Amino acid sequence: MKPTHIEHIGLAVRNLEESIRYWEEVFGLQCYRVEEIADQKVKTAFFKIGDTKIELLEATAPDGPVARFIEKKGEGVHHIAFAVADVGTALRSVEEKGIALIDTQPRPGAEGLEIAFLHPKSTYGVLTELCSKPPAGQQLS
Ligand code: ZN
Repeated sequence: MKPTHIEHIGLAVRNLEESIRYWEEVFGLQCYRVEEIADQKVKTAFFKIGDTKIELLEATAPDGPVARFIEKKGEGVHHIAFAVADVGTALRSVEEKGIALIDTQPRPGAEGLEIAFLHPKSTYGVLTELCSKPPAGQQLS
């Protein structure tokens, strides 16, 4: 597995609207997409900085992963996502090296990407996401 670039950095925020305003007014960036990921109980907003994105994450339910993260650690950096050629292949490769996985199979993430998370207990505390574009004609639903 060798990532091509940092796809995005995920930031946990309490208030998506307020946070969007911060990134637009202070950094002069434009939020180009807001998307709710129902099964993750999260609403996301995206900004592009070169090849990398900022992904803001606001919880939509108090028992969701982002709500629990903020409860424990407060707002801030939630995860780093690396772009790889193929998430499934990358997962097998890191699993062979003994890295604990949160997702053993790729699943659909925001922006139509296939994603999977590695467990922070194996990654020196950094919640790590791998993502790739699904092969043409094989969009996950
Ligand atoms: Zn992410």
